[in-house]
Amino acid sequence: MLLKDKVCIVTGAAGEKGIGLRTARLFYEQGASIVISDINEQACEKVRSEFDPERSLVVVGNVVNRDDCFNLTKAVMEKFGRIDVLVNNAGITQPVKFEEIKPEDYDRILDVNLRGMMYMSQAVVPHMKQGGVGSIINTSSVSAQRGGGIFGGPHYSAAKAGMLGLGKAMARELGTNGIRVNAVTPGLIATDITAGKLDDEMKAKILEGIPLARLGAPDDVANAFLFLASDLSSYITGATLDVNGGMHIH
Ligand code: NAD
Repeated sequence: MLLKDKVCIVTGAAGEKGIGLRTARLFYEQGASIVISDINEQACEKVRSEFDPERSLVVVGNVVNRDDCFNLTKAVMEKFGRIDVLVNNAGITQPVKFEEIKPEDYDRILDVNLRGMMYMSQAVVPHMKQGGVGSIINTSSVSAQRGGGIFGGPHYSAAKAGMLGLGKAMARELGTNGIRVNAVTPGLIATDITAGKLDDEMKAKILEGIPLARLGAPDDVANAFLFLASDLSSYITGATLDVNGGMHIH
């Protein structure tokens, strides 16, 4: 049990096929009390009954709304009295070209991915400081590193690259408080973000560029999150862990 008695929040974690719910399930199997937050009310309702209510909390919330973030951590503290891990996983993408990005698209993509990471982190940090320990994990993307993945537009690359910079600055500032901050950069992972958007020809072309010759699965990313959430990574902060099958080697 790598997360026994730890209290872990995963944002964007109610989607049936998503990385977030797979992560929540894995952390729960590893002994954690799990907090699932997601903007999708219906999906939250669906997952609520899956976990023992003593060891779980499912809250509808928008990471772009600062009050939602602080209300969430207040509820977690009231129920569990501590916060050990935050996985900033909520994210959205939009596959458009540079000149097609409208001001409102820019705001939406930057807000959910980058502002959401900042608000949620600001909401957990005081409690982690109080406990003298914490692990914050940010879900960036290979798109941040190579200037575009497959489905993200340039504004998505910018938001995910911003997450890397913000996370490194947080790692420097918060290390003396016992708080570690790391990022995971997934390659192409088969979830709802990719569902129905790949025909066989496209898939074959993509696989040519992946040395491990398969798309990633939510488990591949969840396992990396588990490593960074647990004490196995106790001397790692400010790091970026690639989970991309070799799609981008640098
Ligand atoms: P997904 O669409 O299945 O999951 C995203 C979840 O975030 C959804 O449940 C959605 O309801 C939730 N969400 C969206 N906006 C929100 C908001 N404002 N507040 C709270 N929750 C919100 O996608 P996924 O593939 O599981 O993606 C998870 C993370 O991994 C995202 O940050 C994504 O950018 C990143 N990522 C995915 C891939 C991939 O290939 N799937 C690759 C690199 C990075």
